Amino acid sequence: MQDTIPKILQEQRLFFSTHKTKEIAFRKKTLLALYKAIIAKEDAICEALYKDFKKPRFETLGTETQIVLAELKLTIRKLGHWAKPEKVSPVWINFPSSDWIYREPYGAVLVIAPWNYPFQLALTPLIGAIAAGNTVVLKPSEVTTNTSKIIAEIISSVFPPQHAHVIQGGVEISQALLAQRWDYIFFTGSTRVGQIIYEQASKHLTPVTLELGGKSPCIVDETANLKLASKRIAWGKFLNAGQTCVAPDYVLVHKKVKSALIEALKKSITNAYGKESELSPDLARVVNAAHHKRLLGMLKGEKILFGGTHNSTDNFLAPTLVDEPTKNSQLMQEEIFGPILPIISYETEDDLNHFIMGTDKPLAAYIFTNSRTFRKKILQTYSFGGGAINDTVIQYANKDLPFGGVGKSGIGAYHGKNSFEVFSHLKAIVKKGTWIDIPVRYAPYRVPLWLAKHIKRLF
Ligand code: NAD
Repeated sequence: MQDTIPKILQEQRLFFSTHKTKEIAFRKKTLLALYKAIIAKEDAICEALYKDFKKPRFETLGTETQIVLAELKLTIRKLGHWAKPEKVSPVWINFPSSDWIYREPYGAVLVIAPWNYPFQLALTPLIGAIAAGNTVVLKPSEVTTNTSKIIAEIISSVFPPQHAHVIQGGVEISQALLAQRWDYIFFTGSTRVGQIIYEQASKHLTPVTLELGGKSPCIVDETANLKLASKRIAWGKFLNAGQTCVAPDYVLVHKKVKSALIEALKKSITNAYGKESELSPDLARVVNAAHHKRLLGMLKGEKILFGGTHNSTDNFLAPTLVDEPTKNSQLMQEEIFGPILPIISYETEDDLNHFIMGTDKPLAAYIFTNSRTFRKKILQTYSFGGGAINDTVIQYANKDLPFGGVGKSGIGAYHGKNSFEVFSHLKAIVKKGTWIDIPVRYAPYRVPLWLAKHIKRLF
């Protein structure tokens, strides 16, 4: 497989040089074909995700296929408008001119995807890259093999390999791909691997988008509606068995309402998954034995308030609440990425600072409060990728909101028009008139220097 990589890339470069991918009608036609292919395979996609980690069908429809279809629908509808040259105001110093931004594709794009939303996080960047007129090599995750296989089938049924191609495999394949020179790399995955990708890309000065992870806090103050908060926190945390990059990683709750929130969370979890969550058809599994073992290791020595039961035959771990892990515990040092929710109490804003400020900027943060002042304070104080007030995860659903991290949680943002922009170089063009040529700028310079000090007014 490694040997074929340079050949595929060369074929993609050749195809790109024909300028076919620059035709808007061609891009739309291809995206429409992809839309139809996904609809035709939607049941098979659900089955693949069920085989990979028992992802419930409703969750696959809601967080994988339908999100991708919505992205495709929007892109097909708006592409003509997005791709049009954009006129901006000219400046007097260039008089007479009209000034434009042209969006042009970079060329050959590499997309590397993770396993946690294995369909959606592979397809959504691909849609943006194709819409912007690039060719794509996509490497889905080696962890969710059934989904990767169906992605490869869909892509090869819609695209010739010189336009878009799936290469399956693990770290070795990923590194063989990174050894090539790409015109853009879009990576979703862990911060650790993100650093490797960035380093490899820098060798060719290849621009990158890095969609990474982190520890996303969920703050609940004493004014919050606890019943609603517990429902929305439990949903966002245990969706996909907690394997969501924007899931609340841990809860910081005001001391006064801590026990009430814990009771409400226990109720919400039981309402959602029943008394024996192992029997619930609505709870996904941990993706593999290694992650299952890692999560159980995190629980060692911790005070479990609820859940904690597990079964290694199918990597089941019950939705679990943990009481006050210390800041130095493994639970609080690493991104959890599983169905474990630490509950930590705070009393003062200093306590909040202690937990949030010392950590890297997270991908998301959530604030449950009825106090405007508190909400404003948190939004002003902390830096994070994005988030929600009085809910979790839902910022992901709006295509007009850029999705991405900051600091160690990522570089760049996508979704909707942002995806098209990510994969487009903005070419700035000034169209200068020829009917007049104002001589002021040419040497020998005759404008008095006191007057030259006012040139700024002409910009
Ligand atoms: P990962 O970083 O282990 O793997 C992601 C991809 O990188 C896979 O395709 C894998 O084959 C490849 N890879 C792994 N090691 C590599 C190496 N040494 N060199 C080159 N390529 C390598 O991530 P994961 O375990 O698949 O996903 C979980 C992580 O992804 C979490 O940290 C999560 O927060 C993050 N994530 C972020 C987003 C986002 O949108 N910001 C979305 C989903 C997941």
